[in-house]
Formats: sequence, structure tokens, C-alpha cells
Amino acid sequence: MTTPSSTFPIDPADMPGLKSWLATQNDQGHLRSVDINEILIGPDVLLELPAVLQRAGALPGKIILLVMDETPMLRDEVDLKPFVQALLDKAGYHVQPLWLKGDQYGLVHADFEQVERVQQAITGETALVALGAGTLTDIAKHAAYLYDQEHSEQAEMVYICCQTANSVTAFAANMAVFLKDGVKRTISSRYPTAIISDLRVLVSAPKAMTEAGLGDCCARFVAYGDWYLASALGVVDLYSEVPLALLANLDTILLEHAEGISQRSHEGEAVVARALLLAGIAQSIVNMSAPISGTEHVISHVLDILADHYRRRLALHGAQVGIATITAAQFYQHFLDSFDPRKITIDACYLDDALLQARIRNLFTAIDPSGAMGRECWSDYSKKLALWRRNRARFERFCTDWQTIHRPKLAALVRPPQVVHTILARAGAPLTPQELEPPISQEEYDFAVQNGHFIRMRFVLGDLLYFLAQAML
Ligand SMILES: [Zn+2]
Repeated sequence: MTTPSSTFPIDPADMPGLKSWLATQNDQGHLRSVDINEILIGPDVLLELPAVLQRAGALPGKIILLVMDETPMLRDEVDLKPFVQALLDKAGYHVQPLWLKGDQYGLVHADFEQVERVQQAITGETALVALGAGTLTDIAKHAAYLYDQEHSEQAEMVYICCQTANSVTAFAANMAVFLKDGVKRTISSRYPTAIISDLRVLVSAPKAMTEAGLGDCCARFVAYGDWYLASALGVVDLYSEVPLALLANLDTILLEHAEGISQRSHEGEAVVARALLLAGIAQSIVNMSAPISGTEHVISHVLDILADHYRRRLALHGAQVGIATITAAQFYQHFLDSFDPRKITIDACYLDDALLQARIRNLFTAIDPSGAMGRECWSDYSKKLALWRRNRARFERFCTDWQTIHRPKLAALVRPPQVVHTILARAGAPLTPQELEPPISQEEYDFAVQNGHFIRMRFVLGDLLYFLAQAML
């Protein structure tokens, strides 16, 4: 019988163990430290919130800015938000609730107005507790980050993350995702002082949220290929397999637990929690989301842009990512099976900048006639293009070494589409864009698949396939 804590080689709930393991991996000094004091995972860990605050130095009598959205939430049969307020009241804290307002569907968006609202409510006497899922977490953490930046003479403020769903990798990450001119951008932020992952809360969240979290961590199965590819082609400086080691055996673990995840067992929920927390830490130690964000994430980001344009409710981020991971894994499988450097003309892989700029402008004009979105995308894409051009010798070497070095390496890093499909199917997660809530048409999905690589600076397989397609015309 294996316990959930023994499934991953490194348990995020054992912070001292994780930190000392990381220290042994950091021989070249390129890894960032994990500045989280503690992570609690278990069926009753929410009850320890007052003790966690005290260990962080926030003693009874202090003001707790409790950030929440207006979505009703349960912990088993109990109404969660009044429960947490009462818990803090009883421990002698002064609770100051801050309710973030959602759109017409009740969804709170990660934008800087929300961050400002939270930041303005923080004082030198405040400790921050975020009680919510991914977006609320990003808003609260970034408000704490900006407050710290403005008060650098003070100690970092106490910010506790009480995650209410196993939906995304944001909880343990020191980065946040916000909209810039309608395009999602990941920016530096801060770690929480502590994270409370209460299994009774997590299993009480809608099942679709846990399925989405599962989809979000499946990104690792293709994103690592993208990161390696970018590194082999010289378009990214840092590449490390320490984040990969943190997520070792992820496919085996998820395959084994997918049914438990579907049944919402505490054990299954704890596996998703650990996977998401490790994924958040995996990106933070290299200070970029690359280990768990590549082709599949840019596809999901374009779907969000389209939903916003059509004023449609956003589907869950991780649910989109899961489906897009199957697609990206299919691309990898095809690429590994069929790429033959002898059949391409290298010259043809270097397109005229003006032509690409016009293409990006045209793509986004229909969605954003002001042109701001097209400019934002071109500003990122042009940097990638310049690196691609400058490192042409690397691509030539990549072609020479394809069969001996890069093909086997990529095949080891990515997972076949059947593996991703089986994990998601066993857990009952959506497998096609039409199964998303709300459903997405095949036409829109195909648009996102074809154009996702144009919106961001990070080099992904889609970029290479686009250049190769020109070279094979
Ligand atoms: Zn994600």
C-alpha cells in the first residue's frame, strides 16, 4: 500500500526536505530558492490556519485581510467562508473581509484593477489570507508583492494561501498571470508564506476544477519538449532538468490515481494537490513557466482571447490545457516520426520579418481593431524571431544531430498522446474542445492551434513546424 506522500520522490508538504534536496541540485547556482515556510496537505489542515499565522509571526490581535470572491464554497457540508472567518475570530484575529467582484458570470478576472483594490486595503498591520482558487490567488499574491516592493524597508508581509480548488499551478508559484493588452503574460511575483491545501475543501470544489488541475499539470508532458527544443536551437538561455526531477514519475502516478481522482477520494485529491504544488515550484526555481507551459498553454491563451472577444464565459484554464496537451503530444509524435532534415531547405526557414509582422497584424485585427493586441504580440514575437535568425548555426547543427541526439532526447522528454488521453479519460476530464464548458467550436480550436505560437516570445514546437512548413512548400 502506498501513501500519497510516497508517490512523488519529493513531497511538497515536507518543505525542509524539499529545500535540502534543492540545495544538492543547485551546483551551478542557477536555481532560485523556494521561499515558502510550510505547505500543509491533509483532511483537516485548514483548522491549523491560526497556528500557521502565528508561526509566520502574525499573532492574535492582528488584522487579517481575508480576500475572497463571491462564489459560494463548501467544506464538506459547511459553508466555507463564514467557517474561516469564525475560525480566525475565535483565535483572536480582527478579520477584514475583502470581496472581489466578478463579471456577469461571477468570474473574477486577473487584472491590475483587482490587484490595486487588494493592495490599497493592506496596511503595515495587515496579514493577508487568500481564500480562493487560481485567479484570486494571483491577485492576492501580486498585491502582497507590490506592497512589499513599496515597503522594502519592512519585512516581507505575511501572505497565506488557502487554496479552495485543485485547479491550476498558481498556488505555490512565485509568478502570476495577468492580461496585457488582451494577451496573457506571466510576470514575477512572490511566494506565499505558507499554503494550506485542505482535502475536505478541495474535494468539495466542483469536480471540473480538479479535472482542470489535472489538465494543467499534464502540460509537463509536452512543455518540457518545447523547452528542450528552444534550448537546443539557442533561443532560450537557461535549460535545467531539476524541475523535471521534481515532477519525476508524474505519468505513472497520474495513470495510477486517475480513477481515485475521478471518484474525488482524499487520496486522489492529494495527488493532484501535490502535482500542482510541485509544478508551481518547478517553474519558480527556474524563474520561468517553461517546465509546465509551452504549446498547450499558448493554445489555451488564444482560446481565452477568442472567448473575451465574443464576450463568452471562459472555459476552465486547465481543462483547455489538458485538451491542448493531447493535441501538442500528437504534433510531437508526428514530428518525431516524420521529421527528416534531408528534406528541408534551411534557407526557406528564415522568413521575411515584414511578412510575418503583417501576418500577425492581420490575425489579430478582427479580434482587436485598435491594433494593440497585434502590437503586443509582435513585440514578443519579433524578439523570438531575432533569436531564431541569429542562431541559425544552431538549427543547422540540430539538423545534423537530429537522429543521434535530439530525436531520442525529445522522445524521452515528451509523452505519447495516448498517455495524456488515458489519464484525462480515466479521470473523466474533457477530451475535446466540444466537451468544454462552454463548448468551443472546432474552427476556433483549430485557429488557436495554428496561431498560438504567434502570441508569445517563448519558442515552442509550433514555431519550428511553422518554419518547416514554409521550407517544404
Ligand atoms: Zn497553466
